[in-house]
Amino acid sequence: MAEQAIVVINAGSSSVKFSAFAARGEELALRLRGLVESLFEQPHFVAYDAQGQVLEDKRWDAGTRLDHDGALAEVMDFLHRHADGARLVGVGHRVVHGGLEYARPVRVDDTVLAALDRYVSLAPLHQPHNLAAIRVLAQRAPDLPQVACFDTAFHRTNPELAQMFALPHALHDAGVRRYGFHGLSYEYIASVLPRFDARAAAGRCVVLHLGNGASMCAMASGRSVASTMGFTAVDGLPMGTRSGNLDPGVLLYLMDEQGMDVRAVEKLLYQQSGLLGVSGIASDMRTLLASDAPRAKTAIDLFVYRIGRELGSLAAALGGLDAIVFTAGVGENSAEIRERVCAVAGWLGIEVDAAANASGGPRISTESSKVSAWAIPTNEELMIARHTRWLIACETTNPKPPHR
Ligand code: ADP
Repeated sequence: MAEQAIVVINAGSSSVKFSAFAARGEELALRLRGLVESLFEQPHFVAYDAQGQVLEDKRWDAGTRLDHDGALAEVMDFLHRHADGARLVGVGHRVVHGGLEYARPVRVDDTVLAALDRYVSLAPLHQPHNLAAIRVLAQRAPDLPQVACFDTAFHRTNPELAQMFALPHALHDAGVRRYGFHGLSYEYIASVLPRFDARAAAGRCVVLHLGNGASMCAMASGRSVASTMGFTAVDGLPMGTRSGNLDPGVLLYLMDEQGMDVRAVEKLLYQQSGLLGVSGIASDMRTLLASDAPRAKTAIDLFVYRIGRELGSLAAALGGLDAIVFTAGVGENSAEIRERVCAVAGWLGIEVDAAANASGGPRISTESSKVSAWAIPTNEELMIARHTRWLIACETTNPKPPHR
């Protein structure tokens, strides 16, 4: 029988990322991955095998525009050429917003798409592109099962109070609440944590997803109880270019006194703030760590300071702390940032093991540390592939769920 393949698509505003997994018994093995980027300027397609060897690299002329339909056609053609006899059984999509309705992934049909359209206004920078990819594929391959996996779903277990803003209740009822994001990353970490630290997996843990986008999640027994991101993915920590949390009075001031309109404020908060805004140099942590400029140092200092503050807040939401886990680009790769965060969190009982941290962990705390600390790579694509496989299998059999 032909090997089964699951494809994962992450469609953004100007890029489409993909990966293909082969089903091997219980597990899924990465086979291919790649992306089409700069869709509207000078598109670039690059694809790799599981070892990271470039399989194809293609650039279009400057001025060429490739819409999402064109990008997906490139991806599907590539996958077809490299199928190696495997049979594509389903496609999983990263979809940023599942609103209140979707606490878990869902097989997409017209009714689901119509429901997901309602959340476009809650995530206008991502949701339309996520849904466009689903629609394009549905047209190209109407019989191919598609599954939507949400960044918000993992946080639907947050208690009611953790989801509330102190606004009039009618707004809460209308959906103005804290949703939380990066849920697929947290869910993946929750799924592997028992292998690393059984006590933390069954106890109180804060996961720090520190990438270009950055957030933190408090988990009790592997379930999300609070997170730093709220109504949108601009809340919480300062990020590469996003401000993180802000006194709402600043927005009133900007609009009232500085005459900024909504689009200008949006641009400021999403694209010109965070590490880039404070440093005036770069959004990329590696560039800032390598820089001698005083403002680069200030940006990093602020990043670490705010993580420390949020860690205290999330430990309070958990009523104590057993472990912290660093993940994503900065969390997985920067021993310096991990060490500095552990140092400001020393009062919580975290004692870093400098040698273990420098060599990348996974355990980066000492034997005697009251709270253990870990560096664990995340894998959102694998999480999506697991969900997709499981939901498709559900239609014929009664398989074990992909996590917990
Ligand atoms: P995204 O949110 O786009 O998926 P990533 O999780 O890939 O982002 O994280 C990107 C960030 O990780 C960038 O700021 C990058 O500089 C940082 N990063 C990657 N490797 C290192 C490293 N060795 N040291 C410090 N920062 C790193």
